[in-house]
Amino acid sequence: MFKALLINKGESGQTVGVTELDDAQLPAGAVTVQVEYSTLNYKDGLAITGKSPVVRKFPMVPGIDFAGVVESSSSDLWRAGDRVVLNGWGVGESHWGGLAQKARVNPEWLLRLPEKFSSRQAMAIGTAGYTASLCVEALEKHGVTAEQGEVLVTGASGGVGSFAIALLSHAGFKVVASSGKAAEQDYLLGLGAKQVIDRAELSQPGKPLQKERWAAVVDCVGSHTLANACAQTRYGGCVAACGLAQGMDFPASVAPFILRGVALLGIDSVMAPRAPREAAWKRLARDLDISAIDAISSLVSLAEAPPAAAELIAGKIKGRIIVDVNN
Ligand code: NDP
Repeated sequence: MFKALLINKGESGQTVGVTELDDAQLPAGAVTVQVEYSTLNYKDGLAITGKSPVVRKFPMVPGIDFAGVVESSSSDLWRAGDRVVLNGWGVGESHWGGLAQKARVNPEWLLRLPEKFSSRQAMAIGTAGYTASLCVEALEKHGVTAEQGEVLVTGASGGVGSFAIALLSHAGFKVVASSGKAAEQDYLLGLGAKQVIDRAELSQPGKPLQKERWAAVVDCVGSHTLANACAQTRYGGCVAACGLAQGMDFPASVAPFILRGVALLGIDSVMAPRAPREAAWKRLARDLDISAIDAISSLVSLAEAPPAAAELIAGKIKGRIIVDVNN
């Protein structure tokens, strides 16, 4: 038997709570993992609160990330005792996820946990840090260098934004953080931002082409913010679009793309192939300061995860929430 957070849907709506499950109830998969820590991402918040149709079938164990130790494996890829991390692949949406003491998954979905990180630190990073790393990889692959000028990060105080600032500043980029939280200025400067701007400067409808400022952008916000970021990107620059915190719409024109050669790079963490995943985790292990990770994360138990998810969706949480599934 093992403990899990279980989401159910009945006629009276969605219920969520900690329950005891039998190993035989675990979904099909060649590898069984003893989960040590999971985390709460925005998507987990939506799933647990039922605010958005993230969960594709019920009952569902939420949790799009987990880190732990392989308990048993019928795959050649993994042996009992291997330390692993998983991000995405529909886990916590269409396949039981990480907010449980055990998970059973496809061997191809697992990555070896970098030695530098404990499983708790890996979950402080979670999909947020891994996605930020995918964004920075994409910018560098496009040829962006620190000498080319300022890099804008939107949704800066959020999980993805915070890790993007830390990774970009470590790589020598001059980072400008766009945030709606004036009180987080010191936090953002501490992560490595050189300047903080009010997100209101970017969130309203703007002209199709504006004064060129950014060599590159990591956008966590979408909507008018993404449109303005593209319109302000310098000739030949690029914009990595990964989020929709302001909205899913993209009220823009093609002008930055056809008149300034700006490139829009789409970033998806869920189904990203193995090679970019490994590159992203390698960069995190190489460049992240572990004390910074510890400073931006807090810990909750499995039973505390639902109220924490509600606070996350209400925008009341700063930094990353780690879930100790064995507590
Ligand atoms: P968080 O909730 O931690 O952060 C989002 C940040 O966006 C907030 O902290 C806030 O930053 C800003 N924000 C919130 N509401 C608005 C608004 N109405 N207008 C403008 N800015 C706003 O989320 P994450 O960092 O974990 O994720 C960021 C985005 O990326 C989300 O939309 C998420 O769904 C998406 N995502 C996508 C992935 C992918 O695979 N493409 C993977 C992971 C996340 P501030 O107060 O500093 O402005």
